[in-house]
Amino acid sequence: MGLTTAERPRRRVIDASGADALADEAVFRLTDVIRVYREADVETIALRGIDLTIEPGEFVAIMGRSGSGKSTLLNLLAGSDRPTAGRVLYLGRDLATADDAARSAIRGREIGIVYQSQNLAPMLSLVENVRLAGWLAGRPIDAVGGRTALERAGLGDRVDHRPSQLSGGEQQRAALACVLAPRPTVLLADEITGELDTASADVVLRLLRDAHATEGTTIVLVTHDHDVAARADRIVELRDGRVVRDGGTR
Ligand code: ADP
Repeated sequence: MGLTTAERPRRRVIDASGADALADEAVFRLTDVIRVYREADVETIALRGIDLTIEPGEFVAIMGRSGSGKSTLLNLLAGSDRPTAGRVLYLGRDLATADDAARSAIRGREIGIVYQSQNLAPMLSLVENVRLAGWLAGRPIDAVGGRTALERAGLGDRVDHRPSQLSGGEQQRAALACVLAPRPTVLLADEITGELDTASADVVLRLLRDAHATEGTTIVLVTHDHDVAARADRIVELRDGRVVRDGGTR
């Protein structure tokens, strides 16, 4: 069962200027968002007018067939791409018009992003990777905090291992531990259970639900998998760049 808006834990957010603010606004508000890719003579309309609001503390699954626009949408939420037309507001701020310093501050400190392919530093141990993630996010994590984050991910006996010494599922869990440890306001995840065995996928989903329940982290999870999406509170389905379903998980 999802929490109602009133029940969701309110959390403080640090805005790009460093000031504390209560997260009263929608985390994301997209209005008539269009994204067209142009390459040589070929034009691909990836998003054809998306209106979407994601409130603080929501756990949303984005579903849809390959090519329906899911990754394009996630990149816009991450502020790593700009819409061709329309607006993408993050806590009331327009990511498209924010200057580079403000966008980097938001992306570095507030929005955690985890992809299917890992971005762990290969020369560092897992606990060093978690501490590096905290440092990059401006939220220092000591060695005990690093170990605790890895224990939660079921990697308590791997803290001094390098990423190459882990299985794919363990690397995915470690990457998620790195992204969650600095307690981002928003977590964006792209198909992170796609390649995992059931046990690792369960740990990943438990970590997401824990962050959602205890920290009030807003989660946007792109997935093909109906069973995974059913763990979210809301499913948004895309087809050919449009929202064709937006509602509960049943
Ligand atoms: P999904 O994540 O649902 O598979 P995408 O957002 O990756 O969908 O892609 C939506 C559409 O945009 C597809 O037709 C895809 O081929 C196209 N597309 C995605 N990225 C690019 C790009 N960088 N250049 C050109 N076309 C792209």
